[in-house]
Amino acid sequence: ISSLELTRSVLDRIDGVEPKVNAYITLDRDGALAQAAAADTQRQRGEGGSLCGIPLSIKDVLCTKGLRTTAGSKILEPFIPPYDATVVEKLRNNGAVILGKVSMDEFAMGSANENCAYGTPKNPWNLAHVCGGSSGGSAASVAADECIASLGSDTGGSIRQPASHCGIVGIKPTYGRVSRFGLLAYASSLDQVGPLAKDVRDAAIMLGAISGYDPRDSTSVNQKVPDYTAALAPDCKGLTIGIPKEYFGAGLDPEVDEAVRRGIALLEEAGGKTVEISLPHTEYGVAAYYIIAPAEASSNLARYDGVRYGFRDHDQDELLEMYRHSRSQGFGEEVKRRIIIGTYALSSGYYDAYYKKASQVRTLIVQDYAKAFSQCDLLVSPVTPAPAWKIGAKIDDPLSVYLSDILTICTNLAGLPGMSVPCGMSSSGLPIGLQLQASHFSEEKIFRAAYALE
Ligand code: GLN
Repeated sequence: ISSLELTRSVLDRIDGVEPKVNAYITLDRDGALAQAAAADTQRQRGEGGSLCGIPLSIKDVLCTKGLRTTAGSKILEPFIPPYDATVVEKLRNNGAVILGKVSMDEFAMGSANENCAYGTPKNPWNLAHVCGGSSGGSAASVAADECIASLGSDTGGSIRQPASHCGIVGIKPTYGRVSRFGLLAYASSLDQVGPLAKDVRDAAIMLGAISGYDPRDSTSVNQKVPDYTAALAPDCKGLTIGIPKEYFGAGLDPEVDEAVRRGIALLEEAGGKTVEISLPHTEYGVAAYYIIAPAEASSNLARYDGVRYGFRDHDQDELLEMYRHSRSQGFGEEVKRRIIIGTYALSSGYYDAYYKKASQVRTLIVQDYAKAFSQCDLLVSPVTPAPAWKIGAKIDDPLSVYLSDILTICTNLAGLPGMSVPCGMSSSGLPIGLQLQASHFSEEKIFRAAYALE
């Protein structure tokens, strides 16, 4: 099959299901067909990389040269980046076909993709339910066959949680493994780009394509990129699998608990040895994260002032009024809430009580993991306390949405890699994911266990 045929069939699929799913913010039909034709020429010449001719969707938080990039926000509605994010450039160099930009919670703040200025994508398994977030459009587009794979970003779970809710594979790499250059920053010490894909092998190919040192990102790490597909062995022999007891606590949906425990049994059958682990500071993860992430966001989002790029309220002639009106109209409710929390937490007199305290908790979480990984290779757990909720069910209750991030947030606070891989279905027909976490730069162990589960 040629790339042109494949891309056309994916575009047809998009035409068929997009009115129901609403995963895309911007579809670049002509651009995709031109890239597909170029990929076919490359293939005929025996050139082109691991993704040559493969149609992908990209979360709208990654800059794409000449293609609108909104971050799900009205404030960036007219923004057309003059450059590609490093990860996008790497995909293009590999011959990938970029179909367009997919939906997300505004500036990646959210867990259900209900905070998007361009509408909420639906869960392809049940259109009445959320697809998760913030990389909801990425997950929905993969699950609904509106692309072959996608790129998302994960600050506190935004790749793993929607992957879990949509029954696909998503991996958040080690902090520093993948360049953040051209990723519109939410919380710079936590953000990381990663793939969402239909299976473990696809995720391994995608991660291999985007990983590696980038001098344009000062936090990128100069370490050799392994061939992740070489790690895909059918067994788990020699791997010690830790079961963190705090991840199976009160509030866990019994069907999720059961599905994950079945997954653990499969890992044991595949030769893995299990051991109980304790990560005692897990319960403080949400509180620490919801200080640190908004604090960093309040600073990162200061650049959207109506002057440099994006939306401006042209009715104001006075500079400060123009800033105020542009930001008030350009940002949505959740983003404003985070800016206020972050600004408050960083204000003089409060810094020690909030930001400093949260940073200390972060260190304790890092130490918990270090101790755990001296006893095991991998940590296996649920990704979310429950399957995807109904659209609108939590719209007036941000705190309960924050609390639902409890199982994914600590990974980011410690900069570790984590994956969601499907492990079952709820009785109501919604997917359930299993989470695998490992020590820094141990993505290969994650891929190996996930592959054994498939
Ligand atoms: N739900 C979390 C938040 O709203 C995580 C989002 C993310 O990983 N980008 O901050």
